[in-house]
Amino acid sequence: MTKDFLVYIETKDNTPIKGSLEVLSKAHELSRKLNSKVIAVVIGANIDKSTLASNGADYTVSVKRDEFNARDYASIIEKIAKEKDVFAVFMAGTLDGKDISAYVAYKLDTVAVTDAQLIEIEEDILKFTSPTYGATVLTESKINSDKIQVATIRAGSFEKKDNLNENAIEEEVEIEKEETITNIKNVFEEAKGSISLEDAEIIVTCGRGASKGEGYELVNDLANILNAPISGTRPVIDDGILPKTSQIGQSGKIVAPKLYIGCGVSGSVQHVSGIQSSNFIIAINKDEDAPIFNISDIGIVGDCEKILPIFNEEVKKIISNK
Ligand code: FAD
Repeated sequence: MTKDFLVYIETKDNTPIKGSLEVLSKAHELSRKLNSKVIAVVIGANIDKSTLASNGADYTVSVKRDEFNARDYASIIEKIAKEKDVFAVFMAGTLDGKDISAYVAYKLDTVAVTDAQLIEIEEDILKFTSPTYGATVLTESKINSDKIQVATIRAGSFEKKDNLNENAIEEEVEIEKEETITNIKNVFEEAKGSISLEDAEIIVTCGRGASKGEGYELVNDLANILNAPISGTRPVIDDGILPKTSQIGQSGKIVAPKLYIGCGVSGSVQHVSGIQSSNFIIAINKDEDAPIFNISDIGIVGDCEKILPIFNEEVKKIISNK
């Protein structure tokens, strides 16, 4: 087995997602310590390979595909991992990344560590640290040294670095589509060009406390003013106010924006575990004892329907004065 790293590059609208580039830069850092290389694998997307080189890829391997299927993608990654005899397979810890990684681990007869937020080299294998039990406990895991080290990486855990390589050696390969027992009938995509939650610098979240009456409209206005995606807590998704793809938290997406604004969000551990890596948190809640205030940089105690009209106007003024 080499000590090379394979990084699956997840894409949206033919652009790598931020999380994948963070993983690539981390793999580059580790590979330099192990005297090895980083292979970036791109499936079903036509992207500029120089970006991948700049963020840490030494090689890129592209495979054509018309549609996404987690098992087929896993089969592609498995074949490339075996062919290149890699040491580790990393991908971003998105919903798709977690889905694919489980299949990849099964196919490579190993296990997948999910949500790693720290990766160290220890006696020639990797030690992963990941949050568990709603991010209340940190778990350290190691995979046996004779097995490929498969992991998904939590958004915002590592910095995306530029200018790591000038160029990468590009390869395009054909891999037969795996016949799977899963038939995908419909793919519901977020609107083309919209900012995905994992890539967003600002996220506005609607909690149950702001989801009724005028509250939702006001939260939506704030998202529009900031040109930010709107996300929801689980009850807001369960009530059908926002789609499942907008859910943040333990059973939703893990995000790491520069600014998170939570409106009528209580701050349950299941929600907080998805926003902990945010740089700056603003919360509006009418209950001064709401747990969200324990992790907020700015907490505003009040009714969203009264606070948001004023807040939105002030944000508009700041933006227009820029
Ligand atoms: P609530 O807890 O009902 O809080 C509403 C808040 O709004 C309250 O603090 C209240 O004071 C405030 N409020 C009410 N009215 C107003 C007003 N007019 N103005 C201002 N504030 C107001 N949840 C997630 O979000 N994501 C997950 O991924 C997730 N996964 C889960 C997985 C499991 C296995 C389980 C068991 C639960 C999960 N949950 C998840 C649910 C989680 O436990 C909470 O129930 C949920 O996060 C609460 O959402 P909320 O804060 O919007 O609602």
